Amino acid sequence: MSRFLSERYASLAPYVPGEQPRDKKYIKLNTNESPYPPSPEVIKAVGREEMADLRLYSDPDCKILREKLAARYGVEPENVYLSNGSDDILSFAFMAYCADGGKAAFPAISYGFYKVFANLYGTDAMEIPLKADFSIDYRDYLNLDRTVIIANPNAPTGRTLTVSEIEEIVKSNADHVVVIDEAYVDFGAETCLPLIHRYDNLLIVRTYSKSRAMAGARLGFALASKGLIDDLNRLKFSTNPYNVNRLTLIAGAAAIDSDDYFMDNCRRIAATREKTAKALTALGFAVIPSKANFLFAKHETMKGEAIYRLLKERGILVRHFSDPRICDYNRITVGSETEMETLVDTLTAIVKEGTTL
Ligand SMILES: *Cc1c(COP(=O)(O)O)cnc(C)c1O
Repeated sequence: MSRFLSERYASLAPYVPGEQPRDKKYIKLNTNESPYPPSPEVIKAVGREEMADLRLYSDPDCKILREKLAARYGVEPENVYLSNGSDDILSFAFMAYCADGGKAAFPAISYGFYKVFANLYGTDAMEIPLKADFSIDYRDYLNLDRTVIIANPNAPTGRTLTVSEIEEIVKSNADHVVVIDEAYVDFGAETCLPLIHRYDNLLIVRTYSKSRAMAGARLGFALASKGLIDDLNRLKFSTNPYNVNRLTLIAGAAAIDSDDYFMDNCRRIAATREKTAKALTALGFAVIPSKANFLFAKHETMKGEAIYRLLKERGILVRHFSDPRICDYNRITVGSETEMETLVDTLTAIVKEGTTL
């Protein structure tokens, strides 16, 4: 930190992304990326012509892609906002609705970025504990008189709320925005999208990073009432009007044109998830029921950190969090069938050695 940094940022605790090591080839099950490439249509869509057009700015209104997403999700283009990854939208939501002493509430165990944004924007953040089984009790979020941020499915647990539970939260906090982060919804959870037509305070955040296998393209979107979308645009046009680059806009549209490909892969990943969960259970793991593209699991005898380390030594990366409330667990991204077979074989060996120590 330099001596020039504003005091306001001196105490920031920035988000720590999962490792992206370059030293050797790992089976990467630590940042919830897709094991499958984007559709052939996406790969074809970004050609020489688009490269040459990079001299031009991208469309600040993202018109074509917004219209495609609106048609795909049965809403109007005015209900869609696009951004350079969904973290940007979450950032704007904190900036817009609970900065400078504004109040927010989110689960105490959830996507780590919520707390980072709360710190960055000076939000008075209430962190609500999960139940012992790591589920969210929706009743904890009723009539809070605060901005509410919930990931559904939640991360890193994979557990879900029902749409009617979310509706209760949205209804009872009518004077505040409720942000539902649906980063993982395509892997088998139920979207609360139909509610945006009835509640002007519901902001749904989605990303291409997980279910559409485009984490590196940086593309996120929000679905909400026109008023909330206008708010996000107001902030975007006050900071970075060209927030989505030309190549990503083209790739994002091609992805929607070939959306069956992506949704098939999501079903495949969900099937692999269920199979892997069974295998882990048989190895003595307690596995939280997940509707996301990851599993959150702890072993009956071995420590979470040891499992993380032994897997890494054998070329498999998973995500371990040192937070004492969840340090017995590892979050394991669901990869391809073969990757998960290798994971299960490797864990079988590790558990065998671990219990004979
Ligand atoms: C991955 C993730 C995001 C961020 O996605 P980007 O679009 O890549 O910025 C947001 N929320 C949750 C819960 C996530 O897991």
